Amino acid sequence: MTSRQLALNVLQRRCPLEERFHTVAMTLPDLRNPDHLALFLDFDGTLVAIASHPDEVRLDPKTRDALAQLNEVLTGALAIITGREIAAVDRFLEPLRLSIAGVHGLMRRNAQGKTYESAFDSRLPAAIERAVFPLLAKHPGLLVERKYGALALHYRAHPELEQASIEAMESAVGELAATEIKRGKMVVEVKAIGGNKGAAVADFLKEEPFVGRRPVFAGDDATDEDAFAVVNARGGVSIKVGPGATTARFRAAGTEEFLEWLRRLPAQLAG
Ligand SMILES: [Mg+2]
Repeated sequence: MTSRQLALNVLQRRCPLEERFHTVAMTLPDLRNPDHLALFLDFDGTLVAIASHPDEVRLDPKTRDALAQLNEVLTGALAIITGREIAAVDRFLEPLRLSIAGVHGLMRRNAQGKTYESAFDSRLPAAIERAVFPLLAKHPGLLVERKYGALALHYRAHPELEQASIEAMESAVGELAATEIKRGKMVVEVKAIGGNKGAAVADFLKEEPFVGRRPVFAGDDATDEDAFAVVNARGGVSIKVGPGATTARFRAAGTEEFLEWLRRLPAQLAG
């Protein structure tokens, strides 16, 4: 037996199965006890592979089926935590309707179907438009995603415009108080301050059927780190999808590996 195997054996004897999550990384967790778990999932890059245009992502019907089964096994303690608007995710999930936090927590629809929206400065949309207009006029290939209380600039088609995109967004933030910049994969966004993915997870955990359960969160991008922090602080299970620095305790190599794990999860939890 190698010293590494020995160390692992010692570790496993010392820790009950559920506690081993904290000490193992670079792998996906072995989850049990659905009554004690609440599952939170990012959408883009986690449930669907990222596409060149946000409208072009495709939710595999097998993933939709797995989400429906998980929602049942977890008696509704499943929520999508996304940067998109709630309605945009609803369209992909149809006919499935889940609890969702949208625009990085600016809006949230809970398990009872009640929707909460953070208020924001009414001058915000016009201020952002003014700031990005010169850049868009010059580079029509940049993609704008207008959302409730936010505007995202996608530079996937023009990676060389990253710095110019960030500068345009900084100028928008400079014009108005209570706004912040969110950076993601090939996207920079200005949004009203009023929530983040971690706060959204914490809000769900105050309500039925999430309350008292151990949170599990999976996400692929920088904005998911807020949720990893909340989940880690509560002894939950944090899963980073794909490469990159993270505070998550587990990792899937990429979207495909994560989805394979997710599709096996309903049977595993039910069994
Ligand atoms: Mg994502």
